[in-house]
Amino acid sequence: MTFAEDLKLHFDARIAIVNVVTTEEARVLAEIEALCRGPGWPADEGLYTWDIADQFTCLKPAKVPFDDKREATPDTILRMLRDYPGGATFVLKDFHQVWEAKRGTLRGLRNLAASLPARSPRKSILITTPEHCLPAELKHDLPVLELAKPDAAEMDALLERTVGDVGALRQVTPGLRAKLVEAALGLTSTQARRVFQKAVVSGRGGRLDERCIDLIVEEKRAIIRESGALELYPFVEQEDRIGGLESLKDWLAKRRLAFSEAARDYGLDLPRGVALIGIPGTGKSLCAKVAAGMWKLPLLRLDMGAVFGGILGSSEKNIREAMQIAEVIAPCVLWVDEIEKAFAGSAGDSGTSSRVLGTFLTWMQEKQTPVFVFATANDVERLPPEFLRKGRFDELFFLDLPTGREREQILEVHLNRKGLPMVRSRFDLPAIARATEGFVGAELEAVVKDGMFAPFMDGQREIETEDLLRAAGDMVPLAKSHRERIERLRQLVLRGEARNASKVGAADEVKVEKVRGERLLDL
Ligand code: ADP
Repeated sequence: MTFAEDLKLHFDARIAIVNVVTTEEARVLAEIEALCRGPGWPADEGLYTWDIADQFTCLKPAKVPFDDKREATPDTILRMLRDYPGGATFVLKDFHQVWEAKRGTLRGLRNLAASLPARSPRKSILITTPEHCLPAELKHDLPVLELAKPDAAEMDALLERTVGDVGALRQVTPGLRAKLVEAALGLTSTQARRVFQKAVVSGRGGRLDERCIDLIVEEKRAIIRESGALELYPFVEQEDRIGGLESLKDWLAKRRLAFSEAARDYGLDLPRGVALIGIPGTGKSLCAKVAAGMWKLPLLRLDMGAVFGGILGSSEKNIREAMQIAEVIAPCVLWVDEIEKAFAGSAGDSGTSSRVLGTFLTWMQEKQTPVFVFATANDVERLPPEFLRKGRFDELFFLDLPTGREREQILEVHLNRKGLPMVRSRFDLPAIARATEGFVGAELEAVVKDGMFAPFMDGQREIETEDLLRAAGDMVPLAKSHRERIERLRQLVLRGEARNASKVGAADEVKVEKVRGERLLDL
């Protein structure tokens, strides 16, 4: 349902006062003006705006004259609206400033919300506020509507309005135009207008071309980062960047087509998301980046630490903003990093974190847009059982310490990345894998990096197996101090609550034994 349809539905149902949360007042006014002048709206109803500085402005006169020249003060405004005998819609801008300054305003609004629906002709009030700020007294009386960010069709019209008349769209093919529009999705109309204008100025000969796409994306990246805890992540990775984790990789590869129209037509449910749990360095973040790369989708990273850290304003605002942006950028991957941080403060903050998180989890389950959530967590102890409930995520994966074979594969990935040829024949990978039992992926990467240091100092000679073994010997793996945490996570797999991200086959018997709990880590 569009914003205008939703609004009309409320007023038609004789809900007299609604609160619209938006930073884009001009867009709200344009929407409501179009609605009031369109079919299905009483022709004799007027449309007026009011704000404390400019007082009343008439956008469409009512049949029964409304005295819009009369000054209204916070004391008199609600009575003026109540006593006007005609039918009209009033848009009260930033009206929260009035109820914050003037005692009695909240009571007045509640009285109006109760009395107006029975009155004829119809009078409706729309209150715009830049943030969710309804006090408890009004929460039950006023529904809250949100104006979503412009979708592709609106963005296209905005592009035309902003730069069409300066000739910037001449020679722009439909394909390029669609890409320009897509690049700007996630911005408000004001932000997009600014970005389009900037792109024109930087484009060759004042025309938009392919290079402008990067510029728009860069601008968008900066705007999104500034506005909250969300980041349009610039780097995605390819599948060959992961060593091991075959089971998780297979699962991700199978979902590649699940976002397609064909999958919808066939009746497949939209993938909702996946949760990855494992100690730090096991490759959870890497998998989110690979998923976005594999599926060729943009990657948004939501930093839960920042959402609940309080430095960026209210956590509620941050999370709503993130959900909105993800919905317009969709299809996309939304990587929620360290989701357990959302639960950390739930005891001491009068329920804000659990409410905010509840909003997020409900959205995740009910959303109709292809936003794939990738939640990563380091510890299961800090996740409440309802989070792990079956059906919440499409799948819950546990990333265990890599098996011997996986350690070889991870070492191979990183040695290859260093440009070293013929890794398999040149290094004794099984020996290094044996020497690195209990190491996670990040530590294996560090072994390769550190192992290059000595041969470089040693006259820049070629790196050998010995160098890597020495580097491994100098390192104390993190798993040593995380034994209990790993055990708790393994229990999840044993209880059937999570799936192992690795394929544990015959070659990994030792590990299978450990997973069965017969033997703990040999650390
Ligand atoms: P986590 O998110 O679980 O803390 P990361 O994904 O940030 O771990 O891992 C840090 C780095 O370690 C990665 O960027 C990658 O280079 C390396 N790494 C971890 N796991 C693997 C793996 N399975 N294969 C290849 N590299 C890995």
